[in-house]
Amino acid sequence: MSDRIAIVAGNWKMHGSLASNALLIQQLMAGLVHVRTNCQVLLCVPFPYLAQVAALVAVGTDQAPLLLGAQDVSEYDVGAWTGETSAAMLKDLGCSHVLVGHSERRSHFGDSDTRVAAKFMAAQLNGLCPVLCIGETLDEREQGLTEVVVAQQLDAVIAAAGVAALSNAVLAYEPVWAIGTGRTASPAQAQAVHAYLRSHISTYDASLASQLRILYGGSVKAGNARELFAQKDVDGGLIGGASLVAEDFLAICIAAGA
Ligand code: PEP
Repeated sequence: MSDRIAIVAGNWKMHGSLASNALLIQQLMAGLVHVRTNCQVLLCVPFPYLAQVAALVAVGTDQAPLLLGAQDVSEYDVGAWTGETSAAMLKDLGCSHVLVGHSERRSHFGDSDTRVAAKFMAAQLNGLCPVLCIGETLDEREQGLTEVVVAQQLDAVIAAAGVAALSNAVLAYEPVWAIGTGRTASPAQAQAVHAYLRSHISTYDASLASQLRILYGGSVKAGNARELFAQKDVDGGLIGGASLVAEDFLAICIAAGA
């Protein structure tokens, strides 16, 4: 961790109900008073619950203890795109952030590097901060291709949006083999990829690279968060499973703010 302000982002994935969300938000709000202000907390909730969570946390007001985000966004602005949700709609509901390129979108829903770049740009055009997710599969890691793969995913966005666009974005390194598997990258493995990403971006713009927040995601738990976040180039985490349990998520937020 450095003097960059940490972010802990919860990704609820396709979990929740009106009743369970209300309880979880109540528990989080009570606990967040113990999180130091040098950590931003973001919740990326399913589309149908954005309005509920926005109201529960009074998003956008000075009292709001956390930021609201979505888990995906359409690359299109408006029109005959049945089932899609535009960036303008997310903004309208109080979102400040949106995940783009999560590995589950890439692998199960065909989000190519080109589409991820289009979603990234649609988000920014509508005043949202994209959280760009990149990461290699186990097979790619075992073949020694980790750096090639993450650079390719990142460069697709830089080619489309320009490197300056990263100044209003967050990067999330999420090795696919660590997501939801309980198999976390070691702090040294995470740091190595984060440092590589920062040095890769610094070949375009060194000052931007030093300010960009790079989150680690992949089976972050209360027990391993502190060591991961202590790494020089790790600026917080993207948290799936553990974001659904208030006690665990709060412990991770406290680890990031310490
Ligand atoms: C994720 O959903 O992006 C994620 C990292 O999940 P988990 O923390 O459960 O591995």
